[in-house]
Amino acid sequence: MPSSRRLIDDCFLHDKDRLRHHEALEILRSRVAPVTGIETVPLAQAAGRCLAEAVVAPRDVPGADNAAVDGYAFRHADHAETGGFFRLQTRIAAGHPVETPLLPGAAARIFTGALMPPGADTIAMQEDCDTHEQDGQPFVIVPQGLKPGANRRRAGEDLKAGAELVAPGTRLRPQDLGAIASTGTAEVKVHAPVRVALISTGDELRRPGESLPPGGVYDSNHFLLRALLETMGATITDFGILQDDADVVRQALTDAAADHHVILTTGGASRGEEDHMVTALDTLGSRHMWQLAIKPGRPMSFGQIGDCVTLGLPGNPVAAMVCFLLYVRPVLSVLGGGAFLEPQRFQVPAAFSVASKKPDRREFYRGILDKDDKGRTVVRKFERDGSGLITGLREADGLIEIPEAATGVTEGQPVDFLPFGEFGLSGR
Ligand code: AMP
Ligand code: MG
Repeated sequence: MPSSRRLIDDCFLHDKDRLRHHEALEILRSRVAPVTGIETVPLAQAAGRCLAEAVVAPRDVPGADNAAVDGYAFRHADHAETGGFFRLQTRIAAGHPVETPLLPGAAARIFTGALMPPGADTIAMQEDCDTHEQDGQPFVIVPQGLKPGANRRRAGEDLKAGAELVAPGTRLRPQDLGAIASTGTAEVKVHAPVRVALISTGDELRRPGESLPPGGVYDSNHFLLRALLETMGATITDFGILQDDADVVRQALTDAAADHHVILTTGGASRGEEDHMVTALDTLGSRHMWQLAIKPGRPMSFGQIGDCVTLGLPGNPVAAMVCFLLYVRPVLSVLGGGAFLEPQRFQVPAAFSVASKKPDRREFYRGILDKDDKGRTVVRKFERDGSGLITGLREADGLIEIPEAATGVTEGQPVDFLPFGEFGLSGR
């Protein structure tokens, strides 16, 4: 557990006194548990949903031995005797099984997916065979050298009846749905979506489509965060833009906490005179985390009002997105029945240098993958640091993570790279 000194209400702390990234993750991990109900949905509506109950394969897939190619099925042991010269006995297409066993020295014309006829164990590809007629009787000449069982798919080689096919907590991917459908299962039990109240705060903010007063800023975070929430399958209530007013903020948080699992706010997260989020949270509920030793995203907060989880993101768009990916995403996943999601790190040589980095805090840069002159993958840093620059988020392929202890980066040094794909965001 973090020392209490790290929970002091002071946004002017040194980084060494703030919560470290791993401590923040520990707090989040230890404080959240699944909250959503369970419902049964047809497979067609299950993509992206979080599985609540294991799917067990009710049958083998494939259900029976069948042909992996178009060709000729024969009994391998007959090859030596026939010299590869087989009488064509029958024709078997997918969906039209033939029950008559192959006679000794006979072969069957067979097509991909068709059941093997009784007695056959091996298939020669049609490209490798010649057909031939003798006394009005069709024959096929099968080459030598095929292994017994070649080009045959075995019953149950993909999935075995009774095996756990997809584990609970899995967010269903297209390939999971394909596998579930292949067993004949038509519906699955999934967790209901996490209900999120999404709140922007700031007197300067307006929604796109509205006219902008002097000093106005469009509420880009609402759309950034809404789309990020959608990648997590959340149901979103738009609470609009709150004025920087303590009463307004308190009232909105009270209303939102009544019937949402999560309140996600952006802006007003520090402790300036115009920032009311943390004070409102302290008045209405309890705060478990605030002031992280990270950049960007230092004023990220986490707490609860009753049973409603509150996650307070900074207003700067870069900080808002980075904090969402690092902290909000795993929390949403757990609340909705999934795992505490953490991205894989990949070590990639830096194609940049940082002369001096402040120790004691973890920094996340926007990283752009590139090739060096030898064709090796390297990562560049988006040059400009401003945490208001949405351009950098768009140019980036992921985040570069520089640990607390580092005081700089030298070119060529391997750095941790977290591809956006690790956060479920598709490529460009
Ligand atoms: P704040 O966290 O409220 O101090 O805001 C930090 C910066 O982010 C300020 O420049 C705000 O104008 C900007 N900002 C705050 N909220 C948003 C938002 N929803 N969309 C875009 N920019 C925002
Ligand atoms: Mg503000």
